[in-house]
Amino acid sequence: MDNVIENALYIVPTPIGNLTDLTMRAVETLKNVDYIGAEDTRHSQLLLDHYGIKTKMFSLHDYNEIQKRDYLVNTIRDGKAVALISDAGTPLISDPGYHVVSYCREQGVKVIPLPGPCAAITALSASGLPTDKFIFMGFLPTKEKALQQELQSIADETRTCVFYESPKRIIYTMEAVAEVLGAERRVVIGRELTKTFESFYDLPAGQMLEFLKEEPNRTRGEFVLMIAGVKNRSEISSSVVETMKLLLKELPLKKVAAVCASIYNLKKNELYDYALNHGLTGRDC
Ligand code: SAM
Repeated sequence: MDNVIENALYIVPTPIGNLTDLTMRAVETLKNVDYIGAEDTRHSQLLLDHYGIKTKMFSLHDYNEIQKRDYLVNTIRDGKAVALISDAGTPLISDPGYHVVSYCREQGVKVIPLPGPCAAITALSASGLPTDKFIFMGFLPTKEKALQQELQSIADETRTCVFYESPKRIIYTMEAVAEVLGAERRVVIGRELTKTFESFYDLPAGQMLEFLKEEPNRTRGEFVLMIAGVKNRSEISSSVVETMKLLLKELPLKKVAAVCASIYNLKKNELYDYALNHGLTGRDC
């Protein structure tokens, strides 16, 4: 495949910190397209200046995407090439672009993706967590109830779960993770990737929370939060434990083990042994 520029929409990932992470093809494309649609033109000007790219930019962000999509499609139909970039990483990945890409596809306008930086994939690749199957869930909800529900939805998830998080909310989120998924759930945080203070923290949720609180510098910068999946569905997850704890207030352990086994499709004896080994006792124990 050669790099001749076509009349199409190019999706161009940009660095997530280290300016030298722009691929040669991305530089060529940004230089040779007619226009660049950027999430924040002032922010992206720094990148373009660094690479001597003089292509004209226009703003294309969450608030004007729908409004600008006809302009974009008509521009491309008029024989022009347009590149889409966001402030950092891959456009559309927790960034603007979905509306214009889906519209281009609907209208039969060619969309050409370039591979490149993405914080989620960068973090996952070095996390040490299983990468054969994973789910990317973007930013967690900010409201407490929605946050807890979202976390509850991954209580029994076997795949690695990948989230984005801001420095303002990392402690609050970790508190919820430890509470909803249990202090023992393994968490890996990739912080300030590709930058000077790049770090990986790998701890059970409860210890991670303490570790982050100990030193303010640990909660500065940008974060990818990765939560390990449970080993297999028969593993006794925090939601099963919570249900057992609730039922144990009313029922004897034997009964609780039987009820939970049928709700969660687990083995009665395994639950019974787990409860005994973890000091969970029923009304008559
Ligand atoms: N489109 C981007 C991508 O492909 O990764 C993500 C954009 S999203 C608005 C920004 C979030 O990505 C940050 O809040 C942070 O969670 C994560 N992120 C971006 N750069 C990062 C970095 N250098 N280190 C760790 N996380 C980063």
